[in-house]
Amino acid sequence: MENPENYDLSAFDRAHIWHPYTSMRDPLPVYPVAAAEGVYLILEDGRRLVDGMSSWWAAIHGYNHPVLNEAVCTQLEKMAHVMFGGLTHRPAVELAGLLVDLTPEPLQQVFFSDSGSVSVEVAIKMAVQYWQARGRPRKHRLLTVRSGYHGDTFGAMAVCDPENGMHGIFEGILAKHYFADAPGCGVDDPWDEADIQSLKTILEQHHGDIAAIIMEPVVQGAGGMRFYSPHYLRRVWALSREFDVRLILDEIATGFGRTGTMFACEKAGISPDIMCVGKALTGGYMTLAATLTTRDISDGISSADPGIFMHGPTFMANPLACAVGSASLKLLLASPWQEMVTRIEAQLKAELLPLKKLPWVADVRVLGAIGVVELNHAVNMAEIQRKFVEKGVWIRPFGKLVYTMPPYIIDQVQLARVTGAMIEVIGLEDP
Ligand SMILES: *Cc1c(COP(=O)(O)O)cnc(C)c1O
Repeated sequence: MENPENYDLSAFDRAHIWHPYTSMRDPLPVYPVAAAEGVYLILEDGRRLVDGMSSWWAAIHGYNHPVLNEAVCTQLEKMAHVMFGGLTHRPAVELAGLLVDLTPEPLQQVFFSDSGSVSVEVAIKMAVQYWQARGRPRKHRLLTVRSGYHGDTFGAMAVCDPENGMHGIFEGILAKHYFADAPGCGVDDPWDEADIQSLKTILEQHHGDIAAIIMEPVVQGAGGMRFYSPHYLRRVWALSREFDVRLILDEIATGFGRTGTMFACEKAGISPDIMCVGKALTGGYMTLAATLTTRDISDGISSADPGIFMHGPTFMANPLACAVGSASLKLLLASPWQEMVTRIEAQLKAELLPLKKLPWVADVRVLGAIGVVELNHAVNMAEIQRKFVEKGVWIRPFGKLVYTMPPYIIDQVQLARVTGAMIEVIGLEDP
């Protein structure tokens, strides 16, 4: 290999490195980043891009934050990692304490893992082990709604949307679960009881073999960036009690303030039996996720053969990740995050909603610090990405969706650059 100082990063990358959902034969361009600071990604060629993605929901405080940097450095001086079997440490205990305090009251037990997908695997396993322990092993299937996304591992894939997910490719390998129609009522729409009928019918017919309902609360992320009525969620919760199935809420994208409440389930005034968090948990610094559950579930699992929960990742509760997780949550709590998100929401509405009048725009929706423009056609990813970079912003569309979920610290001028670029680029999309 040549001297890495003057090595062509892009050329080596193209030849050897996979990126998320890409071809190695015909890879789309990738932009080398040298550094990141505040709301800016700084490319190797010196260009500064305003980040509209928070590195996929994670970097809520922006990049290179002095408080978060210090949390990592201080922990690093003590220990980077130790195994979690038979050992514990202050960073894990402190972060678990914060999570138990922040999440709805019934959630008291914390399982740390390395990524959102794994936290979903853990949640599914908890629900299945719980019913086994209760002597009802037939309750081992899941019920979910269409247009969902829960991750890329096999258990998680099996509850992703059956059409836009990966069911076709992995048919025969994926577990078979139940899919109800996606919620139809929007966040502010009047509630229509017909919306829940599909899910209710499945419960009526199959509750005897359903362990849990799993869904993303209020915001369906990578499965289509759809927002739905909190009433739907409240009805799901009530039906889960009525039919004796557990409720798993995947707050990996929505957790920690993104929708304007600390957790999206608060909008429905309900609490799940199992909750997954990830993404913004460490402010985007380290890969870490957690699955929280109730005493009822943890006692159930622990009280029957084999008497233990069957999961234990090598890097479970990594101290660096836990330390920066605690620092990030404390930073969030000390900030006027609700005001920041409300301000972003108002600006996104004011600046993006007018795009609705373009004939090639199917819908524009804004909730909290999330702004989505849905087109009538799929965008040309390489083309549109290049246009955004030329305009000095980082937006990563997928399919028909051009969307932003900026860091909470973004100011009005910086956000106007993001929305301005969206307006200009989408204006050029006339197919
Ligand atoms: C991103 C995401 C996941 C998967 O998390 P990873 O860290 O990418 O494994 C699961 N569920 C939801 C709702 C997500 O947004």
